[in-house]
Amino acid sequence: MTQPHQFKNSIWIRLLMILFFIIIVGICYTVFNFNWTKTNQTSTRTSTLHDNQSNSELIPYTGKVEHIFFHPVIAYPNRAFIGDYQEQAMNDWFVTVKEFNKVIQSIYEKQFILINIQEQFEQRKVNGKLQIVQKPLMLPRNKKPLVISIDDTNYYPYMIKYGIVEKLILDPFGNIAALSTNNGEGTISYDNDIVPLLDAFVSKHPDFSHQGAKATLALTGFEGILGYRTNHNNPGHIIEEEAVKPVIKRLKETGWNFASHSYGHPNHLNLSLEQIERDSTKWHAEVGSLIGDTPIYIYPYGLAYAYRDPRLQSLQKMGYQVFCSVGSYSYEEPHSDAMLIDRRCVDGKTLRNKRNDFLDLYDAQYILDLQARPAIK
Ligand SMILES: [Zn+2]
Repeated sequence: MTQPHQFKNSIWIRLLMILFFIIIVGICYTVFNFNWTKTNQTSTRTSTLHDNQSNSELIPYTGKVEHIFFHPVIAYPNRAFIGDYQEQAMNDWFVTVKEFNKVIQSIYEKQFILINIQEQFEQRKVNGKLQIVQKPLMLPRNKKPLVISIDDTNYYPYMIKYGIVEKLILDPFGNIAALSTNNGEGTISYDNDIVPLLDAFVSKHPDFSHQGAKATLALTGFEGILGYRTNHNNPGHIIEEEAVKPVIKRLKETGWNFASHSYGHPNHLNLSLEQIERDSTKWHAEVGSLIGDTPIYIYPYGLAYAYRDPRLQSLQKMGYQVFCSVGSYSYEEPHSDAMLIDRRCVDGKTLRNKRNDFLDLYDAQYILDLQARPAIK
């Protein structure tokens, strides 16, 4: 008797358990699904709101565009300032990591926003003729556009010796990092070179970058690029070329662009027409073949050709349209077939001697790293 009763009971218990299980699963599914949908809807809504907000806040900008440039930064000041023949050059033409970080922070606080120099201009047909024209610039309200370039992002052997990182590399996650060796120890860092530093700054402050723009890397070719000895007179250049390609790809994906800084970094004013053509052809064969075409030419030493100089025209024939030099203030000289630009130099020399000229960007008094730099004799 007890058995059928128990059997009957156990069926009921099982049915109840199954029912209970179905209800629990149902509740879980509903709650989870609701939360998931809600999260997704919220994030979609947030991003739409954000897009709409940022779009609605974009207004035409017609003022001046600031142009500044750096050289690669000194990661190890104790190697740069050792009292030898190179010390003065390191003291004059470079800034330390600490100084770079302070400059960027100040520029950001002064409401500047990074823009891509290639977004500034475009070639358009005017009266049937191709002309370089300024593109309308739409920026968030109260933001001022800034173009940064970094000359000689080649990590020349002398730079490495004097405390600059060795090369840019990809970390295991595909992000750009800097490789350096100090006291015999190899280090992969994100905090001792401009590229990863600016990447991190923009990722922390997205409003410092318009459409993800970072900066222009100006490259020569005679000692390779980005720390890779891709120069064809290096017997191992093919391996180096393969190694640098993914780095270039990643840089392009993350808002960086490239300029020619000539192949051999000569004083351009001393070059004949043939010499400038030879230099440029070599650059295209060894550097352009890796980074692609660029319309930007950045003169070495800031020594520029005047408009209509036949040597400028030969560079134009090579595909260059934007020519950057150095000046005491940012300057743009538009021509129908060329844009001539002066950039302001952020280095030890201007930090020490040109404080007033840069107060719109930063106060050198609070930037200059007097602990790391040697005393001026
Ligand atoms: Zn240079």
